[in-house]
Amino acid sequence: MAHDLVLKNGLIVTPSGPINGALAIVGERIVGVGADETIGAAHREIDLRGKIVMPGLFDPHVHFGISDTFGDDAMATDFQYDTRDCLMGGVTTIATTTLIGREPLPELFSRAMKCGQARSWCDFKVTCVVNTLDQVRQIPAVAKQGGVSHKFFTGYAGEQAEAFGMSREGISPGFFYEACRTIAASGRPVFPMIHAEDPFVRGILVDELRRSGRRDYLTAWAESSPEWAESVQIYTYGAIANQLGCPLYPVHISAAQSVDTIATLKAQGFPIVGETIAYFLSTTASEMDAKGAGAKGKIQPPIRFDKDRDRLWRGIKEGTLSVVGTDSLTYSARFKESGDFWDCRVGINMQVPDTLALLFDEAINRRGVDLVTLARVLSENAARMYGIFPRKGAIALGSDADLVIVDQEKELTLGRQRYRGRTDYSLWEGRKVKGSPVMTFLRGNLVMEDGEIVADKGFGRPVEQTMKPHGG
Ligand SMILES: [Zn+2]
Repeated sequence: MAHDLVLKNGLIVTPSGPINGALAIVGERIVGVGADETIGAAHREIDLRGKIVMPGLFDPHVHFGISDTFGDDAMATDFQYDTRDCLMGGVTTIATTTLIGREPLPELFSRAMKCGQARSWCDFKVTCVVNTLDQVRQIPAVAKQGGVSHKFFTGYAGEQAEAFGMSREGISPGFFYEACRTIAASGRPVFPMIHAEDPFVRGILVDELRRSGRRDYLTAWAESSPEWAESVQIYTYGAIANQLGCPLYPVHISAAQSVDTIATLKAQGFPIVGETIAYFLSTTASEMDAKGAGAKGKIQPPIRFDKDRDRLWRGIKEGTLSVVGTDSLTYSARFKESGDFWDCRVGINMQVPDTLALLFDEAINRRGVDLVTLARVLSENAARMYGIFPRKGAIALGSDADLVIVDQEKELTLGRQRYRGRTDYSLWEGRKVKGSPVMTFLRGNLVMEDGEIVADKGFGRPVEQTMKPHGG
């Protein structure tokens, strides 16, 4: 019987290495990978002329529903419009956080799932934001609904925490101990994520730097968050999680010292999975100051310095950092730029169309990272953590045919004109890269071609868990 679709003459990035050949799809799944002449007939064939086939990206770090406006309507709109940009960049699965609130966690979880259903253009998972001890007790109930990831905003306290609807006291080690104990006792494949950054010293430094009147805003912002403030929480919360047998997933690692900290903890056998984000790998505070990015580039933790960017890349090469996400929100430029730099809300808008283009250029063309490592950090490792591998995150027999085709020779100028959601500014305006995503397939369907969405409507759906998550 003929396959539905065969992609021929490609460089296919499988988990065990790239192979020259073809990939066959029937329905939504990959049914064959091998030499062109062995793959068999198909109703439709595409000759890739040597282009690279990578697994569709899984961006596990997105915050829908908490940007210019806040709530279920905002989240539904984010899913409906801004996931189009995921397809532009080859991102076929995302995980967004729930709204931040005090309602029961199972309710927040199902509301977020409902927002995505029948609206999202890519497949999705939902991460709960855990804010109260009542919610800690509800973690096992969320696991029964299919929720495995739980975010703890350990880096926030005081007024800043309150502005996000969190408690003033923040997430203490005692609170986190209770959470890990509940997770361990549940016997379920659940993992905690932390935003590591001591909020108290940060508060002092932010006040001082704000009063200093500095105009190199993003460099000053980087100085407000010392490296150790990130590392100290990775150590403290990592030790608690380790003692209770939970894997720990610190999100958006930004500092050189933190990469060393994670390497040390991993060497001691701690089950810790480090995530960094595309912006930290792609720029520095001084580069962003030179471009006048100001509030648009204000993210917490901050975009830092050259030495941090270098160490993050080394962390990826050596396997200390295993996941790259974006920490995207759906802010407008007007929202980010209304008012004073120091008052503006932290976070960067959806720049998911650029993740692969930026990182392919940097990783493959400049830093000697191989294609398999790039595929692991952009897709496979997060899919493993969320328990959806190998259905997602790999080019393998039986996996969903989520694919991105990269033209390694194609030069691309990044900027707002590439976005197809509501995103109205780009941190990368005018940046030239070599290597461009030219086709995206979601479950066997061509959804993006040559920089345009070619699907009639979104058909993303929640991804059910298929196995126990594990770190590494
Ligand atoms: Zn985040």
